[in-house]
Amino acid sequence: MEKRVIKKDALAGIIKKMAENMVVYAPVRDEDNVLFTVLEEEMEPLLEFDNTKNAPKNFFFPQTEVMMRYMKTERGRELSTVEGEATPAVLFGVRPCDARSFVLLDNVFNDPKYKDPYYIDRREKTTIVSLACVQPPYTTCFCTSVDGHPFSAEGADVLLVDLGDTYLAEFVTPKGEELLKKMGDLPAADEALEAKKEKLSDAAGKAVNGVVPGRAIKSWMDENFEHPFWDTIHQSCLACGTCTYLCPTCHCFDITDEIKKEDGRRIRSWDSCMSWLFTMETSGHNPRPSQKQRWRQRAMHKFKYFVDNYDAIACVGCGRCVMYCPVNIDIRKIVTDISNL
Ligand code: SF4
Ligand code: SF4
Repeated sequence: MEKRVIKKDALAGIIKKMAENMVVYAPVRDEDNVLFTVLEEEMEPLLEFDNTKNAPKNFFFPQTEVMMRYMKTERGRELSTVEGEATPAVLFGVRPCDARSFVLLDNVFNDPKYKDPYYIDRREKTTIVSLACVQPPYTTCFCTSVDGHPFSAEGADVLLVDLGDTYLAEFVTPKGEELLKKMGDLPAADEALEAKKEKLSDAAGKAVNGVVPGRAIKSWMDENFEHPFWDTIHQSCLACGTCTYLCPTCHCFDITDEIKKEDGRRIRSWDSCMSWLFTMETSGHNPRPSQKQRWRQRAMHKFKYFVDNYDAIACVGCGRCVMYCPVNIDIRKIVTDISNL
């Protein structure tokens, strides 16, 4: 693995230069929020920020996308699929929790049995540059409780570590090493910098505020689908879906057709298990008619079903759902309460 040093005051210039020749997604300030967006010429990438409000999953799995187009012709219906259209891109400034979310999403969208060409195309053409959390940014962070770490390089092609006036840049994958060629001549990192990184990494892991028994609750969930506990957590839920739309690992979608005269298109859009319509069947039957059942599904999917299917928890501990739930439903408390039953 290549390890190089980038002077702190040079990084923004390197990113902007890359943006001249390829698509670069980076965090930028947008009024009170920090959001990932396509870096335009006049924009400055943010290097000092906590985390973005929007999870970066939408660069691989957009809120809405056209999957195919069709039209009625004299010969019948003609189809044109929309695949392989992604342009090479760099996704800069992803926090380690969010970078891990891509590894989890790969399980779903790049399963040996079910390959999603839209997701895979974008994922393969995008290089991910992650920024380690030297100071875990929020009191709501709990990455270390769900198999992550503030210095994890899982899901990243390049990991940047802020060492004060320089960044240590680790080029962890072949894609990352390709990006190194576009970053100019960067000096090699010495052992002293690596030792400094290890020390910071150790401190950052210990500084993560949230400690919840992420793995331990699965055995309880295996046995307690009908437990009275499930009557308690949903009661204040507004079913707004905020928790699912901001979550970097939530990946449910709906598919609809839009037809106008002779032309049609098939569209995939994000959906949410928090919505009663999500499981509504054409017959009018709804297998999850109440918010209790929907909240049980959300918790079970993250901490049981995904573990059954992929041996991984479908939560990276980013804390977005905790921060932005309008009625303060806290997934950390749910996990902790279950562990105490
Ligand atoms: S954000 Fe809160 S209120 Fe909205 S659906 Fe999620 S748990 Fe319910
Ligand atoms: S469930 Fe909440 S804390 Fe976990 S990854 Fe999703 S938004 Fe982040």
